[in-house]
Amino acid sequence: MRVLDTVTGTLVDPVVDGAATLYVCGITPYDATHLGHAATAIAFDLLGRAWRDAGVAVRYASNVTDVDDPLLERAADTGVDWRALAAEQTALYREDMTALQVLPPDAYLGAVESIPAVVSAVEQMLAAGTAYRIPTPDAVGDDDLGDVYADLHADPQFGAAAGLDRDTMLTLSAERGGDPRRPGKRDPLDPLLWRRERAGEPAWDGDSLGRGRPGWHIECVAIVRGNLGARLSVLGGGSDLAFPHHEMSCSHMRVLTEDPHAGARVQVHTGMVGLDGEKMSKSRGNLVLVSTLREQGVDPMAIRLAVLAHRYRYDWLGTDDVLRTAEHRLARWRRALSGVGGAPAEPLLEAVRTALADDLDAPAALAAMDDWADAALAGVADPVPGAPGVVARALDALLGVRL
Ligand code: ZN
Repeated sequence: MRVLDTVTGTLVDPVVDGAATLYVCGITPYDATHLGHAATAIAFDLLGRAWRDAGVAVRYASNVTDVDDPLLERAADTGVDWRALAAEQTALYREDMTALQVLPPDAYLGAVESIPAVVSAVEQMLAAGTAYRIPTPDAVGDDDLGDVYADLHADPQFGAAAGLDRDTMLTLSAERGGDPRRPGKRDPLDPLLWRRERAGEPAWDGDSLGRGRPGWHIECVAIVRGNLGARLSVLGGGSDLAFPHHEMSCSHMRVLTEDPHAGARVQVHTGMVGLDGEKMSKSRGNLVLVSTLREQGVDPMAIRLAVLAHRYRYDWLGTDDVLRTAEHRLARWRRALSGVGGAPAEPLLEAVRTALADDLDAPAALAAMDDWADAALAGVADPVPGAPGVVARALDALLGVRL
């Protein structure tokens, strides 16, 4: 079972001694669940299924960023309490995942419930001199504890994984949650670890840090360390998380553990899903939500097949055609499986396993099943009794497609 490590650009088997840990960065719950979220969740679900099928001991953790600037902004824009928005969208996401047959993580945690672990990690970095404070005169309270930032110069490996030039890193940092223009930082790229409470913003007890809330990257780090250990087999997420989020997260893990091999053995990134020629964008409002499709009566298994028809690592467009094709394929497979007997199941199982082992080549797995269905519908000369049942159960287990 090999996957594309986006750091080295090579195919790598992340499993060591029959075991693997997987962490996938989850959603910020304010627009759950658009097709891009679903595609990422399904890609790593396939990985977990392939590993389990091969007898690998898998431990999988994920998170919900249930307090973050975009969530607070959406709540303010719509006049909804941010806690209610987060709870409602998280529940919707979980419902969508159940409908899409995505197996739940072994550990699924929110940022808010991870705050004590974040606080102790940030305190540890301050004590070690790998983090520093910037005064915050606008913070609530009259202490001057300041916001806390990681000092990236403490990590000689910083930037090696993403392999970007400095200008690109600065641009991406500004676009993706960083604040390179914040005065007082030692390096414009240094990421926020702890933000002191400001008027009107939610805040939690931060012990010696003062009341405030966590930075984005350190949240995932706290969950990874607490549930999987700091040497991950696979760190996964959408390709827009490679920098700065995954670069910063791995850097924090190395600095916190003083282990140059901490972080992720392999980073796997999924492509972006666009819609009808446009990049899917919250501001344009052209997000296709899984729940909307379900409400319209689209079979969740057709949505899953639409995702699986695309290789996970490439960008693709979610068009109506893609969905219609998937519905047609689903109906055809069901017809093929409703007959008495069929072509032998074993060659198909072998083809599906081989396809998944080759960097999760789901389109090849689907093509193999198309061939089996073609044969079944054309009429097999020597139908094998029970073959449709074996095929249906195998596709359920390996591809998560319930027929
Ligand atoms: Zn993350």
